[in-house]
Amino acid sequence: MNIVDRILELFEARGDAAYFGEPVSQTQHALQAAHFAEEEGAQDALVTAALVHDIGHLVHGYGEQIADQGVDARHEEAGSIWLADHFGLDVTEPVRLHVAAKRYLCAVGPAYLGLLSPASLQSLELQGGPLSAEEARAFEEYPFSREAAALRRWDDRAKVPGLVVPALDHYRSRLEAAIRIR
Ligand code: FE
Repeated sequence: MNIVDRILELFEARGDAAYFGEPVSQTQHALQAAHFAEEEGAQDALVTAALVHDIGHLVHGYGEQIADQGVDARHEEAGSIWLADHFGLDVTEPVRLHVAAKRYLCAVGPAYLGLLSPASLQSLELQGGPLSAEEARAFEEYPFSREAAALRRWDDRAKVPGLVVPALDHYRSRLEAAIRIR
């Protein structure tokens, strides 16, 4: 099965699970993040990254209670490694960095903290809290850190119950276009 079908099938098989204490499912969360990326004119790779940024949760299949158990499953690492067989750094790095980007945005704009949902604040602690000023400067040096920060903002907004957005099939051509050419 090709990677695009595998991704879409993962959402169909496991995406109905709740998204960690938020009022949307995993699939709704992914579709909203991708939709916001598309609305802002993001390229195929970044729209793809927005759609699959939490694929690590679906791949390893942990339940939603994991943060309550004090476990940080490092889903951003799992997801980027899983994607790296098929996609380039323009997809895998924003995915890998999207948790660090939350810690970064907390460090550089205190108002950002106020935008986080209770569940996201809870996981922030597990993820290490806001970056220090020095860590934030180092983050800015990473390739694709700007893309990761943009993705993170779409991620944080993508928790709207009942928001009507394009369905999974809408992203098939975006995903195909983002596949790394070997
Ligand atoms: Fe997310």
